[in-house]
Amino acid sequence: MADVRQASSVWTTLSRSVRLRCPACGLESIIERPFHIRHHCESCRALFKREQGFFVGAILANVVTTELFILAICFFCLLVLGIDYDRVLWVLFAIAVVFPLAFYHHSWSFWLAFDYTVEGLPKYWRKGD
Ligand SMILES: [Zn+2]
Repeated sequence: MADVRQASSVWTTLSRSVRLRCPACGLESIIERPFHIRHHCESCRALFKREQGFFVGAILANVVTTELFILAICFFCLLVLGIDYDRVLWVLFAIAVVFPLAFYHHSWSFWLAFDYTVEGLPKYWRKGD
């Protein structure tokens, strides 16, 4: 498994992550249906849903990215566009509601890619396989 990880570069893994593909092989989507992540990759058997608490990293990625995006939009509206602060707050509120939902799958994908890059993803084997 270590050889496979070394063969795929960080950029390859990041590219697969942006496209919501398995970070290990890139052949399968990590999405089963909207807001549901597959349990494992059917092609390479990389396990996407690991132990309880693993999803906290995906939530962290979503929260941090949302806050950085809100901060960037806030600075842009206030400093570049010169929009009144009260109006900016309404825009930021709307972004704070919509962005985490829109970024949900990518936060999982980035978290899986990070975990794959750091330590690899364990394989899933059913009993009898
Ligand atoms: Zn795979």
